[in-house]
Amino acid sequence: MNQRLSGRIAIITGGAKGIGLVTAHTFLQQGATVSIWDIDREGGNRAIQAWRSEGYRCSFHQVDTTKEAQIAEAADAVLAEFGSIDILINNAGITRDSSMKKMSLDQWNQVIDVNLTGVFLCTKVIAPLMTRSGWGRILNASSVVALYGNFGQTNYVAAKSGLIGMTKVWAREYGPKGITVNAVAPGFIDTDMITTIPQENLDQLLAHTPLKRIGRPEDIANAYAFLASEEASFITGVTLSVDGGLVV
Ligand code: NAD
Repeated sequence: MNQRLSGRIAIITGGAKGIGLVTAHTFLQQGATVSIWDIDREGGNRAIQAWRSEGYRCSFHQVDTTKEAQIAEAADAVLAEFGSIDILINNAGITRDSSMKKMSLDQWNQVIDVNLTGVFLCTKVIAPLMTRSGWGRILNASSVVALYGNFGQTNYVAAKSGLIGMTKVWAREYGPKGITVNAVAPGFIDTDMITTIPQENLDQLLAHTPLKRIGRPEDIANAYAFLASEEASFITGVTLSVDGGLVV
């Protein structure tokens, strides 16, 4: 496999399952060292045990990305383990769907905390560590729904749209320090997150998708690997749609 991430140290939040898990494995296969951060201790430990037995260099830290002290402690641990941090993928995310009429403040706050504030906090702690080496990649998990809205997702769309704005601000602030900042907007990807979508709605989505399939976690992992690589060194501030053409 292409070793384009050789020698890079990456942190992937929400790496214990779904897109984050597959992205972590892809990064390892392409030469990176990976630390996954997740609230799911069992899933995280299971993943790194499997990867270590394949000979890969990786670690797991139980981190709630809404807690700054936990983030700072885990960042120190990664520096102690691997010596530097080059790539941050702000992938951890949750949904708490409800129509606007029924959405509670608690549902709003939970999604804003993880999907927006968590990304702010991880970047706030880790970006200054990247500026030391003058090279870095920050990648944010937005969503196709940030670009066209979605019934029942006021909280989620607010957060995922906010990430697109933050990506542009950080591209401007961190560009002069050698760090690129980009977002990926996945379409509907086959993970636990979409199991709540009724089959009828998925069929409708497929009907509007030129490539006629639901996305796979690998589709998103490959986009992250490209944006994290040297090949993407002149790309910053963009949101890359990876959605089979859903919003064309
Ligand atoms: P998933 O639910 O399969 O996995 C999310 C992971 O994040 C889990 O391991 C979970 O434990 C972890 N997590 C949740 N809250 C956390 C916190 N506070 N701190 C640390 N870890 C936490 O989700 P997925 O489908 O793999 O999605 C990954 C990202 O991609 C999310 O940001 C999601 O919003 C985004 N996304 C997914 C889709 C899709 O169709 N699956 C589409 C667009 C965007």
